[in-house]
Formats: sequence, C-alpha cells, structure tokens
Amino acid sequence: MPPVDVVIDDVLIAIGAALMVVNIRRYLQFMGRSRNILEEDSHLMLWRNAGLCLLVFFLIGYVVSIFYTSSGIVLALVLFFGSVYVFAALSLMMKLVDTSQRMMSSAVDEAREVDAKTGLLNSKGFASAARHYLQKHPDKGFLLVRWDIDQFKLVNEIYGYDQGDQVLAIIGSACKDAIKTARVNGYLSADHFVALIPDDAVAVKKTAQEISGMLAGIDAPLHLYMSMGVYHLDGPDEDITQACDYALLALHAAKTDSSSVAWYDPAMSADLLERQRLREQMEPALESGQFEVWYQPQIDYAAGEVVGAEALVRWRDPERGIVPSMKFIPLFEENGFITRLDEYVWDQACRAMRSWIDEGNDPMPLSVNISRRDILARNLYEEFTDLVARYGLDPSLLHLEITETLFISDPEDMNRLVERLQAAGFHVELDDFGSGYSSLNTLKDMMVDTIKLDMKFLQGGRNENRRSRILSAVVRMADTLGISTIAEGVETREQADFLESLGCHKLQGYYFAKPMPEADYRRMLRAHVLRAEDIPSA
Ligand code: C2E
Ligand code: CA
Ligand code: CA
Repeated sequence: MPPVDVVIDDVLIAIGAALMVVNIRRYLQFMGRSRNILEEDSHLMLWRNAGLCLLVFFLIGYVVSIFYTSSGIVLALVLFFGSVYVFAALSLMMKLVDTSQRMMSSAVDEAREVDAKTGLLNSKGFASAARHYLQKHPDKGFLLVRWDIDQFKLVNEIYGYDQGDQVLAIIGSACKDAIKTARVNGYLSADHFVALIPDDAVAVKKTAQEISGMLAGIDAPLHLYMSMGVYHLDGPDEDITQACDYALLALHAAKTDSSSVAWYDPAMSADLLERQRLREQMEPALESGQFEVWYQPQIDYAAGEVVGAEALVRWRDPERGIVPSMKFIPLFEENGFITRLDEYVWDQACRAMRSWIDEGNDPMPLSVNISRRDILARNLYEEFTDLVARYGLDPSLLHLEITETLFISDPEDMNRLVERLQAAGFHVELDDFGSGYSSLNTLKDMMVDTIKLDMKFLQGGRNENRRSRILSAVVRMADTLGISTIAEGVETREQADFLESLGCHKLQGYYFAKPMPEADYRRMLRAHVLRAEDIPSA
C-alpha cells in the first residue's frame, strides 16, 4: 500500500492530466471556431475566443504550479502540455492579428469600392462585382445599361449643387429596390448610373420602365427623365470598364435622336475616333484657313432676282476634302469651339459684303447663323455693332439667324436681345421654323423680322395636303403679324411655284443653287441668273 500522500499525488496527476486533455479539446474547438471567424466577420466572437484561450492558458499554468515538484512524469506532462498550449496560444494570437488585419483592409477596400454620395458601387466596385457575377453565371447572357438624367445640369444650375447631390443620393438609395431587373447596380460619375441586367426579350424595356417609374416618384425640383445606352456583353471575360464606355456611346446616341433607349453599334466607336480627330484638328484648321465661307443664294421668285445669300461654313481638310458640316458643327456646339468659328464666319461675311460694295456694286445682304453657344458666351449686341462699324456696313445688311429653341428656353432674355439688335438696325430671322418645336402660338411672342420655313415641313409622304394647308396658314399668320417669310430647302419647281402662290416669294434651296464658294456666288450675281446651272462658265 503506497503512502497516502503518493496516492493523493497520483489522483491529482490523473485529475490534472484529465483537465489538460479536456483543455486540449477546448483549444481545438477554439481553433475551429476562430477559423469560422473569417466567415462570421464578427469582432465580438474574435475577442471572446481570444479571452477564453488566455483563460485556459492561465488555468494550465495554475495546474502546472500544483504538480511542478511531484515527479518526473508530471514534469514531462507539464512540459508536453505546456508547449502545446504555448504553441496553441501563439498561433491563435497570430491568427487573430491576421484576421483583424484582413477585416480592416476589407473595410478599406469596401470604402474604396462604394460611392459615398449614392451608396452604390463606384466604377471600380461595379466592375469587380459585375465580373464576379458574370463568372458565377457563365451560361447566361447579360446586358450592361448605362443611364443618366436628361438635363440634370439644369437641376445643378438652377437649384445648386447641394440639391443636385441630394437628388443623386435619393436615386442611389432607391435603385436597389426599384430596378428589379438589375443584378448589380453602380454609379459612375456626374449623373451616370449603370446596371447589369439579364439579356432577355423584355429586360431592357422593363428596366427603362422601372427607372422611369423610380424617377417619377422622386421629389425633385424638376421632373426627371432618363436616357439609356445598352451594350450586349460578350461573356464573363469582357472588360467591364470598356463596356461602360461603349454603353456611353449608345447613351449619347439616345440623346441625339431623342429616343430614351439606344443600343450600342460598332459604328459608334468609329464615330468617336472621328470626333476625337476633328477635335484635335479644329484649332490648327482655323489658323491655317481650312474653314471657308460658302454662300447659298436667296431668290425673290416674284421679282426674278437674287436678293442675298446665307453664309454657311465649310471645312476643307487637305487630306479628306470637304468635311460634312453635320460632322463638325454639332461637335463644335458641344465643345464651344463654334463661338470662335462663328466669329470668323461673321467677319468673313462682312468682309465679303464690303469688298462687293467697294467694287461699285449695289449692297447685297447676307444671313449668318447664330448658335446657342454664341448667345451664352458673348455680348452679341456689342459684337455685331462693332463688326458692322469696323467694315462700315449698314446693320440692315447683316441678317441674323436664330433658332426657335433659344426663345423657348429663355424667352424674355432672347426678346430683349432681339429688340436691342433690331433697334440698332439688324434684321433678325427665325431659322428652321417648322422643323421641330414650332408652335404658331409662340410665334406671336417672338419679335423677329422674318421666319425661315424649312421645307422638310412638306416632306413625309402622307398627308401632304394637310401639311400644305398648315404651311399656308403659317404664311398668312406671319403676314398678319407683320413678319416676312422665306422658304429654305426648296428643291423643285413645284415647291417654288406653290410657295409663290401662298405669297412666300423669298426662296432658298437646291432647286436654285447649292451653297458655293464666294467667287462662284459673285459670278452668279453678275450674271443675273436665278439658278446656279445658268451661270455662264468662265
Ligand atoms: P441651316 O442653317 O438650316 O442651313 C441650311 C442647310 O440646308 C445647309 O446645310 C444647306 O446646305 C442645306 N440646304 C440648302 N438648300 C437645301 C435643299 O434644297 N435641300 C436640302 N436637303 N438641304 C438644303 P449645311 O451648310 O450643311 O449646314 C447645316 C447646318 O449647320 C445649318 O443649317 C446650320 O444650322 C449649321 N451651320 C452651317 N454653317 C454654320 C455656321 O457658320 N455657323 C453656325 N453656327 N452654324 C452653321
Ligand atoms: Ca441657317
Ligand atoms: Ca435653316
């Protein structure tokens, strides 16, 4: 029979060993749990496990201190379990540090990928989320839609940028619930949003409806309408950032042909390159005299004589010949270069009138075009009065063509300007009447001298009779208001005769002459002919 204290010693060793085994199990459980921590993403779990681990470590130390002196076996056990626990504690600590670092950096990453204003994924976040989604669904087709708000800059300009930001924030938070077709939503910049939607027959229409419905429900200072560009993604490996650019091209197309949705077409990319080329070349072209002013005669059909001309700009590129005006004028209107180009055209037109008069001819008026940009960017009154003074011309010789849209967006300012110009002796014409927003009602509020009827008004096949009656009413109404009329785009003798019968005698169009260089126009004037084809060859 061993002595009592040895028995007690052995019992204690057994209890101690059992405790340690239990604790090893605990430790293993902790490790297992801490592995889950990464997934559970919870700080609380992390620190509770760390606390428990330290407590166990402390208990082991306590048990070790009881048995330390008892025997060699105890010492061996203590060393063994002690080292296991030291290792365990250290590796858990390292895991904790690692986990918390990863959590912090994933929070930073998240902040980098979310836009603070709208709460939506920013372009980087959208690209990676969309890529992830596409990779998860490699068998399905998807579309990328990029949408923005028409005239959003008006909200900013009229109500201020804070209000604009607020509207964007509301849209950002409404997106998730409102656009049910969207698999991923994002915000790119300015008022541009983006979404990944499935490629099925109704998705685009449904998305457009959902966005429009969401915008209609937003309490904004102006009614919000959207435009949308759609790009078909080729597969999970497609570059999302580039897809957003393609969708932008489609979005531009939606805006230019004023449909609310447009699909990307590869021709749009070619167009973009072309625009970029034109943008790079416009300054050197102006400096090197590549812009020419051409003249399209205006005829008094009743009197049978040329009574003036419209000055139209032409770009003669040394490599490509004449660049169509539809290619560069809208672009220059967008980027503001039109103001410099127009200044040049007006100057050239006045110089031409001066030299014509100096050669002993009767003065002959010229019409020049004024774009919206010109009105915004400069003091037109001073500029035109200076211009005619510089060339010693009577202001009535310079006819100023303004479009109707200018009157619609800012009627009071426009009328004030027109009145001042008329008081100074200029002749103001309303260009493109009948092509767009024309309304007989607004005519009475626009203090112009002449309206220019666009003959596109008559085109279109069906209902020609009805259109003719409207045209005749417009001419009569203008006459009653003391406004004269000129018709442009006259292409046939029938049109000319018809206009004449309505009492619209001043005509301009291909039937008489296309726009031509100054020298040709002079020859036409000298020859006293009505049609370019009758100009005697030199
Ligand atoms: P717009 O002011 O309406 O000019 C008339 C356009 O119709 C000209 O095109 C002219 O060549 C074309 N045209 C004339 N007669 C006929 C016809 O019988 N049939 C057809 N189908 N077309 C005819 P262009 O010169 O290509 O100019 C297009 C537009 O570009 C102009 O339309 C005007 O808005 C703008 N533009 C042209 N030159 C200038 C300029 O110097 N400054 C500004 N701001 N805009 C200009
Ligand atoms: Ca014009
Ligand atoms: Ca016109």
